[in-house]
Amino acid sequence: MRSWPASEVPHLPDAGLPAAAWPLRLHDTGTGTARPAGPAGSGGTARMYVCGITPYDATHLGHANTYLAFDLVNRVWRDAGHRVHYVQNATDVDDPLLERARETGEDWRALADREIQLFRDDMTALRILPPDRYIGAVESIPLIIEMIEKLRGRNAAYEVGGDVYFPVAADPDFGQVSRLTREEMAPLFAERGGDPDRAGKRDPLDALLWSARRPGEPAWDSPFGEGRPGWHVECSAISIEHLGMAFDVEGGGSDLAFPHHEMGASHAQVATGERPHARAYVHAGMVGLDGEKMSKSRGNLVFVSKLREAGTDPMAIRLALLAHHYRSDWEWTPDRLAEAEARLERWRAAASRASGPPAAPVAEAVRSHLADDLDAPAALKAVDAWAAADGTDATAPSQVKALTDALLGIAL
Ligand code: ZN
Repeated sequence: MRSWPASEVPHLPDAGLPAAAWPLRLHDTGTGTARPAGPAGSGGTARMYVCGITPYDATHLGHANTYLAFDLVNRVWRDAGHRVHYVQNATDVDDPLLERARETGEDWRALADREIQLFRDDMTALRILPPDRYIGAVESIPLIIEMIEKLRGRNAAYEVGGDVYFPVAADPDFGQVSRLTREEMAPLFAERGGDPDRAGKRDPLDALLWSARRPGEPAWDSPFGEGRPGWHVECSAISIEHLGMAFDVEGGGSDLAFPHHEMGASHAQVATGERPHARAYVHAGMVGLDGEKMSKSRGNLVFVSKLREAGTDPMAIRLALLAHHYRSDWEWTPDRLAEAEARLERWRAAASRASGPPAAPVAEAVRSHLADDLDAPAALKAVDAWAAADGTDATAPSQVKALTDALLGIAL
């Protein structure tokens, strides 16, 4: 599937240096600690998979916040001199997409195509660097079938009324991604698309691998009957195919830690006999509105495209998101946008001055803060301090402009 165009990333004069001076550390949900992420030293290839959208209602600020967090990871790695192999999926066939298409009478493929294009346009406007492989579920169905076959071959799949399930008991490491107890897992599984009460399952937490054909829904042929893939096995199959096992970072919103990333890791580990699926599972916080998490089911969404249509500078949207640590849960209000617009104006004025304070200290501050589990709010404050001070270095304004562009994705 086509990705979206990449904005140019300025090559900073001392790129590569940060790999040794400020190696990236990210908070890994699987261990609950901040750990080095990516290749050691400089010049290696970092591998990252980020779960993509289900294209029926793109792109709200919660999505933007997640993809922006992993855009920072991408930029920090590049600045450290690494190549980045970044893969993202689009769940272009799944229950919520089909439900929406049924409600509105639209063809599900047309709905998915339109929303994926809107997502691409939003990501481009926000200067989020594209994945080098952007892959749909539909185009990956042979791959997913092959993965389910591997699980069946390892006695890690069983049928209930034509549907195929993964027995979580097949993975001795089940639970190691989210570190939740079974008591904590049960309500989340029910809330996030699972079917704990389905009669005939061996364990209420067993996850759907293949859903048998239902009337009026798309279906594909497979050795285990006509149907369509489950969501977890989709990401599992795509990530292993394009990144291999033990890739550096699997990312998504914090609501994906369980069951999505937990199940995906178990599928991958049981199917390949190798572990881990990813070296680090990294999760972005939730953006709320009016006291609740922004989500489709609650209908309290602020869309990037609507803000853009209203004339909002996408760089101000980006700055408003960067003003919060990626792992924190926070509330969107119009004030946040106004603050970001004022900050953008101050930065632009400072970057267009004839001279300013030297750029090296602010570059060091931005790099060290981002390397520290993506502390973007602290990085913004370092640029604020530079913009507020006077200086005589005539090269500094253009250097700081390149710095905010390369590392924060903010074009001044
Ligand atoms: Zn996923």
